[in-house]
Amino acid sequence: MPLTGVHILLTYACNFECDHCFLFCSPRARGTFTIARVRQLLEQARDLGTVSSVYIEGGEPFLYYPVMVEGLRLARESGFRTGVVSNCYWATSKEDAALWLKPVTAAGIDDLSLSDDMFHHGPGEESPAARAVSAATELGLASTSICIENPQGQSPQDNKGKPVVGAGAMIRGRAAEKLAEGLSTRDADTFRTCPYEDLVSPGRVHIDAFGNVHACQGVSIGNIWRKPLKTLMSEYNSQAHPICGPLVRGGPRALALEHGIELEGEFVDECHYCYSVRRTLLDRFPEALTPPLVYGIEDGLPPDAHDPTVNHQSSP
Ligand code: SF4
Ligand code: SF4
Repeated sequence: MPLTGVHILLTYACNFECDHCFLFCSPRARGTFTIARVRQLLEQARDLGTVSSVYIEGGEPFLYYPVMVEGLRLARESGFRTGVVSNCYWATSKEDAALWLKPVTAAGIDDLSLSDDMFHHGPGEESPAARAVSAATELGLASTSICIENPQGQSPQDNKGKPVVGAGAMIRGRAAEKLAEGLSTRDADTFRTCPYEDLVSPGRVHIDAFGNVHACQGVSIGNIWRKPLKTLMSEYNSQAHPICGPLVRGGPRALALEHGIELEGEFVDECHYCYSVRRTLLDRFPEALTPPLVYGIEDGLPPDAHDPTVNHQSSP
């Protein structure tokens, strides 16, 4: 399957610090695209010839509003279907939400994906996403809600390569540290497949400001600032990749066994075990398991973090 979807992680910064965040986003997180880098990425995506849709997400992309809007406009101009994902912190009233959404509408987007669940607003509070949806509808903007449910009792869905919509929280990243306790666990020997990602030929990837191309969050198959996306995808061989190879051959359990890792403790599901094993391999595979902040290491920036064209500021 060719690569058809590129999701730009515009920034790792977020005004929230959700327990279920599998990217460890927070107000302190660094790594944000400049508009020049967005333009370069879009050119690379166009050169590939198979990409049809570009999403902008984060972190919280509305924190870098002008770059986000211009990025959407450029992506649309390049002929891609476009979308943006947001936690709706800006929808303080329907009228205000409309103000935020008018330039987004003018940029021309096909999908506005809004987080609408109890992870993003308290019980009894009016949902900011509901206000945003109402404003979007009046502007003629198509919107979808992303509802992350409590992880208890979740089971892998047949949704490889698709965004997580209406599913339980993924037990990886911060969720592995904050949400796993108290959930039922399974024997590590049963974690024999990767249930969510097509690691052999990814249909969509996430790309961050450091240039990392994520097959799954924190699993990099290359860096587009060092090698163009087209070359990178044509050279990608999952079997030769130190993390994807074992995962394809036998899931997270093979990842542990092939690298001689035996973890103590109990694990909720494949992703919880996979993330926990990867966490122990960071020093051995710094190019494949990056950036460190996705593993909760806030001070650990990738090797090319000195690049002056990457905006490293945390949220404004
Ligand atoms: S889950 Fe979304 S809203 Fe929460 S910290 Fe992560 S990026 Fe921000
Ligand atoms: S098993 Fe690992 S690679 Fe597969 S979806 Fe879960 S965390 Fe990602």
